[in-house]
Amino acid sequence: AACRTAPLPVLGRDVLVPLVTGGEVTYAALDYAASAPALQRVWDDVAAYAPYYGSVHRGAGYLSQLSTDLFEAARAEVAAFLGCRPDDQLVFTRSTTDSLNLLAAAVPDGTEVFVFETEHHASLLPWRRARVTYLSAPRTPAQAVETLEKALAGRDGHGEALVCVTGASNVTGELWPVRELAAAAHAHGARIVLDAAQLAPHHPVDIADLDVDYVAFSGHKLYAPFGSGVLAGRADWLRDAEPYLAGGGASRTVARRADGGVDVEWHTTAARHEAGSPNVIGVHAIASACRTLREAGFEALVARERELVGRVLTGLAAVPGVRVLSLFGEDAERVGVISFVVDGWNSSHFAAALSAEYGIGVRDGLFCAHPLVRTLLGGEQDAPGECGAPEAAPGERSLNAIRVSFGAGTPDEHVDRFLTAVA
Ligand code: PMP
Repeated sequence: AACRTAPLPVLGRDVLVPLVTGGEVTYAALDYAASAPALQRVWDDVAAYAPYYGSVHRGAGYLSQLSTDLFEAARAEVAAFLGCRPDDQLVFTRSTTDSLNLLAAAVPDGTEVFVFETEHHASLLPWRRARVTYLSAPRTPAQAVETLEKALAGRDGHGEALVCVTGASNVTGELWPVRELAAAAHAHGARIVLDAAQLAPHHPVDIADLDVDYVAFSGHKLYAPFGSGVLAGRADWLRDAEPYLAGGGASRTVARRADGGVDVEWHTTAARHEAGSPNVIGVHAIASACRTLREAGFEALVARERELVGRVLTGLAAVPGVRVLSLFGEDAERVGVISFVVDGWNSSHFAAALSAEYGIGVRDGLFCAHPLVRTLLGGEQDAPGECGAPEAAPGERSLNAIRVSFGAGTPDEHVDRFLTAVA
């Protein structure tokens, strides 16, 4: 396979995405929801910086100073991308999963957590230190708000509470009513964290405007390469929590005590949770992606994706035996993430055939949202299967699904080829 670049239809001529070509056929990467291709501008920014990187917050040397300046400029860039409030803290992490685990480690003792059973496992599972209430799958956005209202009204009102909700589903692409859920949480004295892993690449996420307390997202879904993520939001819990990682960089001073132990004074800034040498290249890349998207604006991207979503849904509806998975019904607004099953087909075999015969990369499986996919497939909640494992023989009821997802830079030809292949 060779690599060439193609102009993005929506982000302007200077912003290019790499396309992998094999012989005559361009490989159609339609798995943006797993990891989106990095923008050419991100690669260019990384390449321009790569020869000069040094350790941050440590060295007196020029490269260390430069890297420290760029690292903190990256923090400011991502904070601007998220519309952070002046007293919000922004911690660089490895990923959304890492960000939510950091928050889970930082919630005060006794915090009650409310989470819909439909969440991605990264949102569903980190709350092991807390008392968790799993909310049942709503069938409309309004029902999601009602369900949350009811659950919060039932709590005793003592202690802290946190609601964790996704902005856009990684299975159906459907948008969740984040603003309304935030209002409901706050009306009952709870905080809310937004899992923006799938929302941020497709829509503006403004922490103040949505009035959420925390936001988490990953660089590799936002047109930057792997290795960096973000947790941003209210400083107090983060400032008061035990450091997520203990080590250099998180500690302000460490001293031996007369009794033989050590006294540690931890930083109260984001550094408290960023111990060790950070991923300066990854942070540079995520900031570059945020800057590119912010400068390009989301208007053209949203319009283009809406058009592609319409074409894919119409195209799939025309193929007999294809069923698109939806929690909120036909009128739901979606980002470019669509899952479906095909009568008589094992989804894993179907996805393998798309790859081998048509050069199309999609995903199959339960998408790390097992309860949601099983609900949507009408299956048993205890049905076996891991993410991506083939589960049903051809002709049997599907126990997993196929997911197609796209975004900035997806050419019409990829979508046309996909629909032709499915038909
Ligand atoms: N939340 C959602 C909604 C996701 O789609 C994903 C990734 N599939 C995650 C969280 C986890 O992101 P990461 O793998 O980058 O930690």
